[in-house]
Amino acid sequence: MSFRQFTTRDGSVWIPKYLTKISAELCIGCGRCFKVCTHSVMKLMGFSEEGEYIDPEEDDDGEIEKTVMAIANEGNCIGCGACFAVCGTKAQTHEPVPA
Ligand code: SF4
Ligand code: SF4
Repeated sequence: MSFRQFTTRDGSVWIPKYLTKISAELCIGCGRCFKVCTHSVMKLMGFSEEGEYIDPEEDDDGEIEKTVMAIANEGNCIGCGACFAVCGTKAQTHEPVPA
């Protein structure tokens, strides 16, 4: 299978790996990935004991157990990998896309 690819300034092949998943189990909600992303891909969300994402502004019943990072605008990702590089818990999955 061939993947979508581009070229760097010196003409080398570059295959971007896009953010496809953030594990709510591994994420500690530190926000480091959010700070380095310049494309508004991620958003901090609440996570309940039942495994559901909850918008912190809509947690009227106090169901949020912890805060985790979630993908909010996956189409904005350019696959730069900056968020992957700063995540210390290996919570993120990045993958190339088919050409
Ligand atoms: S790979 Fe780059 S653009 Fe995509 S979410 Fe991470 S920091 Fe943002
Ligand atoms: S850097 Fe990793 S652990 Fe921290 S919020 Fe992002 S995905 Fe979660």
